[in-house]
Amino acid sequence: MAEFPIKKLVLATGNPFKARELRMLLHKLPVEILDLSMFSEAPEVAETGTTLAENARLKAQAINDFCGLSTLADDTGLFVEALQGHPGVSSARFAGPNRDDRANRAKLLRALNGQEQRAANFVTVMAYAGSSGRLPHTHLFEGICPGHIAVRELTSGGFGYESVFIPKGHSRCFAQLTPHEKNAISHRGKAAHAFIRFLSPPA
Ligand code: IMP
Repeated sequence: MAEFPIKKLVLATGNPFKARELRMLLHKLPVEILDLSMFSEAPEVAETGTTLAENARLKAQAINDFCGLSTLADDTGLFVEALQGHPGVSSARFAGPNRDDRANRAKLLRALNGQEQRAANFVTVMAYAGSSGRLPHTHLFEGICPGHIAVRELTSGGFGYESVFIPKGHSRCFAQLTPHEKNAISHRGKAAHAFIRFLSPPA
């Protein structure tokens, strides 16, 4: 069997919830997984792009330049149909620059107050900046999870918009699913599987 192309992979995220999900999703890869909590000098990367792909690419390239190791970045957004796709690429800062999850959820529920059309898609774009000679820079992987926005918060748990997003075919929100259930259907799970397929040598 061909040798696996990399030995180490850095997750370019400072979000501990994302890092935990990514570690679970990638745990079968025969690589050592590092994250930004292990690089205290890592640069803060400004998300100045106008798309998830641009922001994911910015983060992956900046961290790859910084540490010289293969890097995977994740940029995620919630695209709500009745809000013409907002908050979309600005999901983290929907209610202001502080990335306040509680305020973001409250603003979203207010914006949809009385609205029957509540369909939404969670979208993740992952960017991989490879350092192996065999793999050129940078590759993108997308995952989409369709669903809808609840009329109120369904639980006090979960991060981001997890307590208000109900994936299609379910009656519980993301925060009420087990990590295993969420990963099997989520935007991040789908993007991670596309990445795993890309990186895995043919059997
Ligand atoms: P970012 O990719 O860190 O910019 O995330 C965008 C926004 O979506 C932030 O408010 C996150 O908290 C939220 N978010 C990211 N991933 C998820 C998820 O899997 N479930 C719920 N909210 C998420």
